[in-house]
Amino acid sequence: TKPLLDIDKLTTCFSSHQGIAKAVDTVSLSFMQGETLAIVGESGCGKTVLALSILGLIPDPPGRVTEGRILYRGKDLLDMSDTELMQVRGNHISMIFQEPMTALNPVFRVNDQIAEPLRLHQGFSKKEALDKAVDALNMVGIPNPTAIAKTYPHELSGGMRQRVMIAMALACNPDILIADEPTTALDVTIQAQIIDLMNDLTEKMHSSLMLITHDLGVVARMAQRVAVMYSGKVVELADVNSIYAKPLHPYTQGLLASVPTLGDTQRLNPIPGIVPSIFNRPQGCRFHPRCPKAYQKCSLMLPPLFEPEPGHTVRCWLYEE
Ligand code: SF4
Repeated sequence: TKPLLDIDKLTTCFSSHQGIAKAVDTVSLSFMQGETLAIVGESGCGKTVLALSILGLIPDPPGRVTEGRILYRGKDLLDMSDTELMQVRGNHISMIFQEPMTALNPVFRVNDQIAEPLRLHQGFSKKEALDKAVDALNMVGIPNPTAIAKTYPHELSGGMRQRVMIAMALACNPDILIADEPTTALDVTIQAQIIDLMNDLTEKMHSSLMLITHDLGVVARMAQRVAVMYSGKVVELADVNSIYAKPLHPYTQGLLASVPTLGDTQRLNPIPGIVPSIFNRPQGCRFHPRCPKAYQKCSLMLPPLFEPEPGHTVRCWLYEE
């Protein structure tokens, strides 16, 4: 079967007074119908830039996709006009953002926000679109959807606003839903509810989900495959069970060691150091200044992707044949 979305050697650059740098550096990933793929990494690793590149939402300047292809059902999104891209965003690929307050428009009522794209992109009448908005609110488990539909975003709690965002993203029945840290701003119980809700809905609608997160705990509950990104590159890609049972990249191992398990009272072990600035990346393996297993070669040459086990790839010299 052909992938639904096929990202091929995608490179997105940003420029500043410090020069031009690749925030996303030659990333290739494919994404199947109905699949949940998690993109994991600390902030600054390039995962959000990757999502915005897919949606054609990179602010130009200072950013620009400079190389690669993003094939959606065989058509390159990078070749599309702004109008075509808007159609894709309205009908086929939608995004849920981290902080709903920045994505919801404070001056419009909830139902108008959900209904507007349905009118614009799917040709529904105003009345039909407003009915659909109430259906969507109902679908995401909002109690008394008819009343909530008439409120403004600031009248709702954080968890409710996130449900509204999900309703808005799913109302057009997208093929692909991209969720960028969808639960980070919420407290733990609400997080779990939102995750279960997204799981249920994407399954029911046969949508594919690209889940962007720094939180490997969330990934375990939702994803089938995991791509770990570091400093603009994919450093490990495998199915979720292999990532948890046998993480190969020292960065992935570090991320996993810092995930708290339920009832864990121990102090976590965050990876020492920070993701390097895109304008000042180390030579060789970009993780080497933080890597406990680094050896001489690591600071000299950037490792390619190796495939030590079928379907499990890793960018680290330890796995050179
Ligand atoms: Fe560590 Fe070297 Fe592997 Fe990079 S290539 S992750 S520095 S062991």
